[in-house]
Amino acid sequence: MTAKCYCGAWSVQQTAWTSANTGHRFLACPFRKCRFFNWIDPPLCDRARTIIPSLIRRMNRLEAKLKNAQQTQTITSTVLDESTIVGENTAMDESILVDEIKKKGVVAKP
Ligand SMILES: [Zn+2]
Repeated sequence: MTAKCYCGAWSVQQTAWTSANTGHRFLACPFRKCRFFNWIDPPLCDRARTIIPSLIRRMNRLEAKLKNAQQTQTITSTVLDESTIVGENTAMDESILVDEIKKKGVVAKP
């Protein structure tokens, strides 16, 4: 499905991410100059309007936790590498490691 917008250009497909129309595709002006707008997909059912935004919020929370865990892992690896380089005891006490991670500015969440 394609159409020209009021500017005379071929419209482009986009996806809405509002709560009411999450994942709902539409055609719009490629330059965002005119107000051309056409839904591609049929309206979402009430169940989809409830479930999809909830799943997206859950995915965003999990991605944030993953990013935090990856940052913590990177800093932990860096601290361990630094202790190896300077010849410190590599069997570092856990409390010393936690102190080093806090100094680097990442707070591990349970
Ligand atoms: Zn246009």
